[in-house]
Amino acid sequence: MSIRITATADRRYGTNSYLVEDEDTKDAVVIDANFEPEQMVRLIRERGVTVRAILLTHTDVDHVAGLAELLQSLGPVPVAVHDAERAVILEGKPLRSEFAIATPPIGNVVSLEEGKPFQAGSLEFEVLHTPGHSPGGVTLRIGDALFTGDALFAGSVGRSDFRNSDGRALLHGIKTRLLTLPEELQQEEHVCSVHLSGSKRLDQSPDRLLVYLKTALSPNGPSGPLAHYLVAIFELC
Ligand SMILES: [Zn+2]
Ligand SMILES: [Zn+2]
Repeated sequence: MSIRITATADRRYGTNSYLVEDEDTKDAVVIDANFEPEQMVRLIRERGVTVRAILLTHTDVDHVAGLAELLQSLGPVPVAVHDAERAVILEGKPLRSEFAIATPPIGNVVSLEEGKPFQAGSLEFEVLHTPGHSPGGVTLRIGDALFTGDALFAGSVGRSDFRNSDGRALLHGIKTRLLTLPEELQQEEHVCSVHLSGSKRLDQSPDRLLVYLKTALSPNGPSGPLAHYLVAIFELC
């Protein structure tokens, strides 16, 4: 199986949506629906793929804003989300009290569950629950690519200062779900971070964070002020 990954970024938040396709079968999924779904629709047409599902790493507004328009163009494909944030999609209940933006309710919602592989056509994703930024945050893995949602920002750990965030859970998830992945996966070129500047292909958008965290946590000790800070927080978890 040959997997191709392409990102589109909106201009408002620089949030990436990803098109993940099996080049042999032309089955595809969209990961996250940013503010410019028309870019994704165009890409899907260009690539000539069949989208089998839309997968959400979580439901912050910049990750779901384009859902309705995407579904309009793709038809009623299932939208997959972790149960902890199901109501945001199913009932249009806002994720954050700080940004009480409701999204239109969507009917065809399926679950992303920790440890249960998610199948979409010929594509199969491993689901890792990485909450903390938001309660239902997940990291999706296919082959040697990781979609971390906002558990990681490019070059940093995700935000955990919202009312329903949990900084300890975030770091615990990174430590137990991401830093325990096979060594060869924890390389910058495998991490598809959501917030990057500009529209970039996976192979052009390195994210050094996992490598950085590894170094920060190595027995030889961290270097640099952020590394010290991270180690201090990890010791609390
Ligand atoms: Zn977010
Ligand atoms: Zn985000």
